[in-house]
Amino acid sequence: MHVALIDPSRVVLKIVTGMLEAGGHTVVAFSDSAAALAHVEADPSIACILTSLEVEPLSGLELCWLLRALADERRPLTILVMSSARDERPLGEVLDSGADDFLSKPPSPKELHGRLRAAERVLGLQRALIRQADTDHLTQLLNRGALMRHADRALAGASAGNPLAMLQVDIDHFKSINDRFGHDIGDQVIRRVAQILRETGATAGRLGGEEFAVLMPGHGIAGAAVVAHRIRSQCATGPVPGLPDLRFTASIGLSEWAPGDSVDSLLKRADVALYAAKRGGRDRVAVTGADSEPEMIG
Ligand code: GH3
Ligand code: MG
Ligand code: MG
Repeated sequence: MHVALIDPSRVVLKIVTGMLEAGGHTVVAFSDSAAALAHVEADPSIACILTSLEVEPLSGLELCWLLRALADERRPLTILVMSSARDERPLGEVLDSGADDFLSKPPSPKELHGRLRAAERVLGLQRALIRQADTDHLTQLLNRGALMRHADRALAGASAGNPLAMLQVDIDHFKSINDRFGHDIGDQVIRRVAQILRETGATAGRLGGEEFAVLMPGHGIAGAAVVAHRIRSQCATGPVPGLPDLRFTASIGLSEWAPGDSVDSLLKRADVALYAAKRGGRDRVAVTGADSEPEMIG
């Protein structure tokens, strides 16, 4: 586990770092609580903070408050407080400030490692919940909400020199697949498309029903079109595992980030392109430029 350790005493930092490293943990040690907070904020790999109460410039309680505010349903953090007999704060007050648990200071190696194992169990459950909340249960791709969050981050990193493309993929005449073969077989077709999208290695999600989106940071139209054509062709050539006689196709709309874009506007252009691909006969790929009408590219 990646642990941030905070204590004013260099001796305590050295001793406790040694204990943590002996238990296989990675440690960043701070005597300055504000620097520690900035580091935890910037480094999402830090999962556990082990702090004394008598730290500065932020007091131990302030640090606990600010760390607890930093942790949210997407960033689980365990905050452990080392408290010595000299601490005047009632332990209840410290827990109310956002700490999860106490250790005596200096901790015994057994107590320290036991508390960290307990923290890892809770963090593991929290991470599993986060994964579940972000996952589409039929396909195991990202669900719509999670994909939109990824898109927000990708847009923040997009620039003139760092393109970003988005694909929207929709299975053709899917309703008739359901009608002819039944809902369960329809589900298998949805899973097959998910597998094809996963194999692109890009960030893919299910928007709902038989609609998907793929985010391609670092790709402009030309690179994304190559991937889109491959997806289209893999859908058309099938087969769906266990269903050798079933064939299906998909249509794909493509858009590329332009200055001023939001996730909605990028998705909207991919959607406009998708419907052009549908109108163009399905089993097609189309693109909508920032200021242009949709255009068929395959
Ligand atoms: P188009 O080529 O224009 O895209 O036509 P379509 O039939 O694919 O599109 P339409 O939106 O009319 O139908 C989508 C169907 O997908 C309707 C709905 O019952 C079905 N559907 C939505 N979610 C699921 C699902 O999770 N599993 C299955 N099997 N069907 C689903
Ligand atoms: Mg469809
Ligand atoms: Mg649809």
